[in-house]
Amino acid sequence: MTYDVIVIGGGPAGMFAAITAAQNGSRVLLLERNDRLGKKLLITGKGRCNVTNHCSAREVLENTPRNGRFLFSVMENFPPEKVYAFFEENGCPLKTERGNRVFPVSDRSQSVLDCLVKLIRKNHITVQTDRVTDILTKDGAVIGVRSREHTYEANSVILAAGGLSYPATGSTGDGYAMARALGHTIVEPEGSLVPLETAGTDCQDMQGLSLRNVAVKLLDQRGKLLYKDFGELLFTHFGISGPTALSASAHLKGEGCRLLIDLKPALEPQKLQERIMRDLDQYRNRTMENALTDLLPRSMIPVVLRKLNISAQLQANSLKKEQRRALTELLKAFPVEITGKRPVAEAIITSGGIRVSEINPKTMESKIISGLFFAGEVIDCDAYTGGFNLQIAWATAYAAGANVKTGIDKKQGM
Ligand SMILES: Cc1cc2nc3c(=O)[nH]c(=O)nc-3n(C[C@H](O)[C@H](O)[C@H](O)COP(=O)(O)OP(=O)(O)OC[C@H]3O[C@@H](n4cnc5c(N)ncnc54)[C@H](O)[C@@H]3O)c2cc1C
Repeated sequence: MTYDVIVIGGGPAGMFAAITAAQNGSRVLLLERNDRLGKKLLITGKGRCNVTNHCSAREVLENTPRNGRFLFSVMENFPPEKVYAFFEENGCPLKTERGNRVFPVSDRSQSVLDCLVKLIRKNHITVQTDRVTDILTKDGAVIGVRSREHTYEANSVILAAGGLSYPATGSTGDGYAMARALGHTIVEPEGSLVPLETAGTDCQDMQGLSLRNVAVKLLDQRGKLLYKDFGELLFTHFGISGPTALSASAHLKGEGCRLLIDLKPALEPQKLQERIMRDLDQYRNRTMENALTDLLPRSMIPVVLRKLNISAQLQANSLKKEQRRALTELLKAFPVEITGKRPVAEAIITSGGIRVSEINPKTMESKIISGLFFAGEVIDCDAYTGGFNLQIAWATAYAAGANVKTGIDKKQGM
């Protein structure tokens, strides 16, 4: 059996590129090292798969802090509305939730995978379990790929082997090695959308505590605002996690960054001060650790009092005016010193990868090797949470799949 196109990697980008190429008339071989497709896709969105974000192409790029501009053409050509229509037309109804996040109506990522697998079968794509080691070239053009035991021939190869995050799903950086061997530059991969490690023991002492509806600000060592967000934050044994911490990680710059948590974003400082005074008055005969229970989660109270050098046993009506003011200030800007990111293996997405200046932004074809295309996380682009990273996978895959040379093209060219 000969193929026009070989796709390396059966994740969302690889499957979608294979389907697009096959629908355009190519004979496609999809090589996936795992014995099943879409292992990572199944764990996306906590098993619900946030398929895309129901917004314009421009808004996707605004939510792509790394190399968003490079994606301009492919995103205009295959924006979220086309992704939405594609899944709905192919038997996977979708729904839009808070923040324009799109999920399958079933609330199961399996439905998204089933939809893709059905189309893989329908379009007669050959799927084989094999781990590709090299992309073969001759005179600067692709001629096939090789695994440990097999050689496969094709004039086009789409490399969609993913990044380095969650390696148990099969994404262990093979794509970088294959591209580098052909002369591509790999921008040093690191984790993005990754939990953050913190100094001291404050976070550890509150581990397991999840804060909802907090406002966070990320500042660099000079106090310059790098990022602000609103939502959920989780304290862990190493530091902080949860949506706001993960998004902040995409903006971390150098050492000495600080996160300021506004625990009461709905209250102006003056209103918060009044609220604190009311509570302290109401519970005037309680100790401080018992007087703040309406205001703060239990596990946070000892940490807050320790930071303010206020004894937990102090009677509420003994709190001095300046201590009250310090308490208000702390609740409006609880500081957390960031010491670094957790390893890339724990990241939602890999930042870094194949340098975008070496890829044609309209077709996703390599500017170095003819017939070599890229799709998905292997490319040096990454976005925030909200369905934007899968949207990048679909749009780049669509471009690659639509631009490979089909069997029909070749016959016409003869
Ligand atoms: C926990 C978690 C939750 C996430 N949730 C969301 C979400 O809800 N919404 C969203 O937009 N994004 C989410 N993401 C990000 C999203 O999963 C990625 O953007 C997406 O999977 C990238 O697709 P990909 O096909 O490029 O790479 P992958 O999904 O990593 O697929 C690459 C495939 O290539 C295979 N492969 C690797 N090397 C070889 C080789 N040598 N030969 C053959 N096959 C190979 C791998 O086994 C793998 O199956 C989440 C990520 C994680 C980790």
